Amino acid sequence: MKWFANLARWFGDRLLPRHRARFVEDLPDRLGKRRVYLVGEEGAAWQAALLCPCGCAAHIQLSLVERDDPSWRATVHESGLVTLHPSIWRIKGCRAHFFVRQGRIIWARDSGITLPAGHH
Ligand SMILES: [Zn+2]
Repeated sequence: MKWFANLARWFGDRLLPRHRARFVEDLPDRLGKRRVYLVGEEGAAWQAALLCPCGCAAHIQLSLVERDDPSWRATVHESGLVTLHPSIWRIKGCRAHFFVRQGRIIWARDSGITLPAGHH
């Protein structure tokens, strides 16, 4: 039933968009949706970047350098999905506050944005 698993995954990716890792040497000018860009070398990325998942099109850049404050930790799972820790809180613009776990966006209750239906 491999075809079924593939089909289920195909639909799952569309119904429940997940963020996958993309390793890059330099950050592209335009970021793609549902991507977490990891800048640097594989296994030694120093920066993560993604489009704000609220749809405001802001670029979010996070330091992965441990001695930086604040800094984040990016975990890339075998599936290519990404977990970021801790949560991401934009203090400017849309004020989105969310977690990225296994590629899923989990909105924090105190997020400053009005979420589209179905995102709670
Ligand atoms: Zn936003």
